Amino acid sequence: MKPIIGIPCATFLDKDWCPPTFGHRQSYVDAVVGAGGVPLLLPLVDQEDIVSSMYAQIDGLLLAGGGDVQPEYYGEERHECLGMLEPLRDRVELPLTRRAAADGKPILGICRGVQLLNVALGGTLYQDIRAQLETTPLEHERSYQCQDWTCMAHAVRLDPTSRLAVWLETSEFLTNSLHHQAVKHVAPSLRAVGWAPDGVIEAVESTNGQFLVGVQCHPEALAATADPRWQGVFSAFVEHCVAYRQSRVQS
Ligand code: MN
Repeated sequence: MKPIIGIPCATFLDKDWCPPTFGHRQSYVDAVVGAGGVPLLLPLVDQEDIVSSMYAQIDGLLLAGGGDVQPEYYGEERHECLGMLEPLRDRVELPLTRRAAADGKPILGICRGVQLLNVALGGTLYQDIRAQLETTPLEHERSYQCQDWTCMAHAVRLDPTSRLAVWLETSEFLTNSLHHQAVKHVAPSLRAVGWAPDGVIEAVESTNGQFLVGVQCHPEALAATADPRWQGVFSAFVEHCVAYRQSRVQS
């Protein structure tokens, strides 16, 4: 049996007279399928027992890209440069993430996902890199401005002892960048393992060997063609979900 990878949805508003749509970009689904997992999009339901039932079905949690996490969750006032918020998604993703982290269920966070992971475990964020970080010659929104998810915006240097460096088989790579926020204080159970040349944190991992991995870039848009090394990270994620599933079956 292939492992089931839960991906909480984003909310898309297309027409103002229509109800919102739940979904995600196809690239997330393709990356999970390419790694041998079964992607399962989780709708945003504001009811604990429903979310709990969804949680029981999944072997791993993929936290995808999207809007900004509400600063109240990391004890800050709202900055004027704060972007679009997704309050319902915060209410679904924060408890799912804390529960998965407590249970040893693998978590992969991408873009908003690394930010959500860090906040869920007690870390904080820069609400806007440009407004709050003085030394930023880099453009962390460059791929967005290029309108190209495979536009390589900047380099990332990895701690060579990190598991990401092992899976990617490199400690330095070029990547896309479509974010205006970033990890500020790293949560106690995580450690920074990747940095942009301007010092912005681009990757985190757990401190205890558990599969809690977050990246600020969008590997799901690179894995298919632009940088196939990222498929190795999705494969490692799915392998850990298989191991989690097997340990659950045995116990
Ligand atoms: Mn970046």
